[in-house]
Amino acid sequence: MEEKLSFEYAPAPESRAVVSIKPKYGHFIAGKFVAGSKHFPTINPATEEVLSQISCAGKAEVDAAVKAARKAYTTTWSKMSGKERGKYLFRIARIMQERAREFAVLETLDNGKPIRESRDVDVPLAAAHFFYHAGWADKLEYAGLGTTPKAHGVAGQIIPWNFPLLMLAWKVAPALAAGNTVVLKPAETTSLTALLFAEVCQQAELPAGVVNIVTGDGTTGALIVNHPGIDKIAFTGSTEVGKIIARAVAPTHKSVTLELGGKAANIVFDDAAIDEAVEGIVNGIFFNQGHVCCAGSRLLLQESIEEEVLEKLKVRMAKIRVGDPMDKNTDVGAINSKEQLLKIAELSASGDSEGAQRWSAPCDLPSKGFWFAPTIFTGVTQAHRIAREEIFGPVLSVLTFRTPQEAIDKANNTPFGLSAGVWSEKGSKVLWASQQLRAGVIWANTFNKFDPTSPFGGYKESGWGREGGRHGLSAYLKGVSHE
Ligand code: NDP
Repeated sequence: MEEKLSFEYAPAPESRAVVSIKPKYGHFIAGKFVAGSKHFPTINPATEEVLSQISCAGKAEVDAAVKAARKAYTTTWSKMSGKERGKYLFRIARIMQERAREFAVLETLDNGKPIRESRDVDVPLAAAHFFYHAGWADKLEYAGLGTTPKAHGVAGQIIPWNFPLLMLAWKVAPALAAGNTVVLKPAETTSLTALLFAEVCQQAELPAGVVNIVTGDGTTGALIVNHPGIDKIAFTGSTEVGKIIARAVAPTHKSVTLELGGKAANIVFDDAAIDEAVEGIVNGIFFNQGHVCCAGSRLLLQESIEEEVLEKLKVRMAKIRVGDPMDKNTDVGAINSKEQLLKIAELSASGDSEGAQRWSAPCDLPSKGFWFAPTIFTGVTQAHRIAREEIFGPVLSVLTFRTPQEAIDKANNTPFGLSAGVWSEKGSKVLWASQQLRAGVIWANTFNKFDPTSPFGGYKESGWGREGGRHGLSAYLKGVSHE
């Protein structure tokens, strides 16, 4: 009998022994963990297992955190030299590296993203943000942001669930480097790595109150936004909540940066290297289950290569391994929450009913947890909801174009403007397209590449201000333009 060769991967599960999750958490205020009152469960979205109980901060806790941050600002942090502040940031960065495995496992358990991504992307990049900003702390006078740069004071920071630790690093590192103190709220479904970061602050002997972490839901976020003791708000999340925040801070003294949604065009011209472009398309939309604000969620294909690209894309998508996020071979993990899964399913159903054609990669989805197979829609027009609204999941809408100008017009036909991708062998075409695109970040012949030195942020409804690089630093200094 002929033996059938099998190239299946054997399971390669990461051990969770490295993390110890407490049954219940409070808040981190003035350098100490304090008990919370109301609690809600945080679950592993891949299994629905309850991991711990998280506290929901009310007015009293937010008040205490803001007071602690103000005290630390006036008595310690604002008096300390940049060189000394930098030492704390370097120390935090090194401890994050030392505890990298713990952070990666915890992130994967709480968020559902593959361990390969939390281990190789989220955690190293988070540490890199602290290293990078540590270097700025004693050089603010030479950053070209004025000769006597001054911190805002107390920064209120609200972050989403898609890159919990990384978004914390994007917010906390520049704030501290510029001399601010911080009150941060992680997202309701992903608080655990922020609470582990609080332990790192203790380990680094960061002065009490410089970083305060309060957990909770949207009401806790709103308490931070509206607190009169806060001088600067930094928010990453939905455009809807971003607009509420913009309205709330408009009549106040508060400075604000907003990193909001996106509907990025990933444009493939007919002279592109097709195999590389297919990899870039897959990375653009299926990285982190498509829970990425700058995801390449609208694929714009030049009509003459549509058939070839789609054929290769389907072959490639059929090889994506969807499943246990703790398995080191997994490419696409669990959807972060039931609510998000329902949103992805509802928007995808609108794609069906509006006449687009759905194709999903063949894969066995686990019976427990929240899952959505990598999916593409073809025959999408600009009027379809799936071409206009942020799906924030592993769903790609494919549109076509005939001329370069048509590609640009379609790419810019969105209220968002966070990112875009251009695939072409011709440098002149790449440069021309980048100049026409109204997007804050444009990748050429690659996608979803991040670096702390490179400013990130959007135009139009994708937000205000930049994070990363010198531009991101300026957002934490008084009277400096953000763009
Ligand atoms: P939200 O914008 O609601 O959440 C982002 C953060 O803001 C969370 O910490 C959240 O708390 C907090 N928050 C919620 N309401 C308020 C408020 N009124 N004032 C202050 N803070 C508030 O995003 P969701 O998690 O609800 O996701 C909804 C959609 O937003 C997604 O489907 C996706 O399309 C998009 N999104 C975009 C992101 C991006 O980076 N562009 C990131 C996350 C989501 P809590 O977690 O408790 O609700």
